[in-house]
Amino acid sequence: MEKILYSNANIFDGNKIHTNSSLLISDSKIVAFDKASNFESNIFDRRIDCTGMLITESFIDSHTHLLSFSSYMNSPQIDNGEINSKSDLIQQIENIVNNSKEYWIRIFGLNNTNSFNINKNDLDEISTTLPIVIVLDSLHGNLLNSKALEIIGISEYSNEPTGVTFDREINSGNLSGYIFEGDHLIERYIPKSSMSDLNDQVGQVSKIYQDNGYSLINDASINNNFIKFELLCNLASSNSLIPKIIFMPGFPYLNEFSRERLKYNSTIGSVRLGHCKIMLTTSSGKTVPNFETLSKQINESHRAGFPVAIHAVDNLSVKTAIKAIGKNPFENDRIEHSSELYDEDIQNIKNNDIHISTHPSFIYDRGDSYLKDKNQLDLNSLYRIGSLINSGVTVGYSSDAPVSSVNPFKGIYANFTRCTKSGNSLNPSEKVSIIDTLKMLTTFNKTITNSENLKSIQINSNTKMLLIDMDINNIDIHLLKNVNSSIKWIN
Ligand SMILES: [Zn+2]
Repeated sequence: MEKILYSNANIFDGNKIHTNSSLLISDSKIVAFDKASNFESNIFDRRIDCTGMLITESFIDSHTHLLSFSSYMNSPQIDNGEINSKSDLIQQIENIVNNSKEYWIRIFGLNNTNSFNINKNDLDEISTTLPIVIVLDSLHGNLLNSKALEIIGISEYSNEPTGVTFDREINSGNLSGYIFEGDHLIERYIPKSSMSDLNDQVGQVSKIYQDNGYSLINDASINNNFIKFELLCNLASSNSLIPKIIFMPGFPYLNEFSRERLKYNSTIGSVRLGHCKIMLTTSSGKTVPNFETLSKQINESHRAGFPVAIHAVDNLSVKTAIKAIGKNPFENDRIEHSSELYDEDIQNIKNNDIHISTHPSFIYDRGDSYLKDKNQLDLNSLYRIGSLINSGVTVGYSSDAPVSSVNPFKGIYANFTRCTKSGNSLNPSEKVSIIDTLKMLTTFNKTITNSENLKSIQINSNTKMLLIDMDINNIDIHLLKNVNSSIKWIN
């Protein structure tokens, strides 16, 4: 086997950077790691000069949505950059509908935080005969036209299933067409892709994860049921591109897994079961579900042997999640997003040993809309990643793709600069160093995903390593956000 020396690199060992160091790789294994000057020329067959480059263990994405990402990549999308008025938006949707050959038309990327809100009447003007579903870019809601509502059996008199919201117009009280947290009501009517199409689509998205340096991804979709788990296991066994997957069962489907005697950490091929995902949102000043129901859900998950991962974005939800976990302690419980935090929340997260998975790239991708919509007090509570890390909380990096960018450099950039897409600064006191973001992508994510917490660089291990064209000691930080093709896998 050829011995290749990657020499003179900055090598990140999961904790700190070793400058002017070299890594000897043979047969996909790490054979030696030392200061560059300690390698004699007779111990390697080939030398690759890595001056000014970074070598690190490959990355983990602790919260993403593989199947949604694949649907998103293979469906028409709204181009929000091209929209300046409500009529621009409607025109775009109309063009997509007119050009589509599908019966069900599903479009991704509606941003319902902008000022030109549309509703089902606008979609009905485009078509009353074709069902149209527009997926919100948050992935937590859909806008349907009347035909789509009719097909899925929702009328003005339908009752809302638990956890689902049928939004209504303030003036008339009629359905607006927006359904929040109701994917499962819609999905079963949308024609499925064939297994071979799905294989290609998931392969294509897996290539994106791979190009961005991820060897392990954690699928955190609330609609993760047993059928989806089986589907992913099948896809993963036939497609070598797919990174290792941790699959979080959604709380509503937990019994389907228990029935199959599957537990936390049960592994089939390269797919492993992770935390139980629980949804928690705030509507009209109250959390849904309320504290008692949330506590019951946490308890039930723990009794089934699963730690929980609670979706909590706004401050009331995060406070409620912390309190409920505090009452039902269990190893490895997590809160997802934790976007709005005050000092006491950070202290309580630390005191209750709760892990966090959050998305630095939101600062870049969504920061401008936060700056437009929130007041100063709220802004100071946003994405307090620096304070969390400084308080000793284990904070994992995640993309939440396709909601936000899968490119880790965007997150590294946003964490370091706190800059938004249009160059504004969001809560700059929460800056995080590049090394700490690398820790979030590797060491911290190993802890929160309960992955083997071996040292990154272990002799004779086949830990997958990346070579990145990024000079950590001499970096033009503003170039970082555009970097995306400089990652090479070295073993
Ligand atoms: Zn998510």
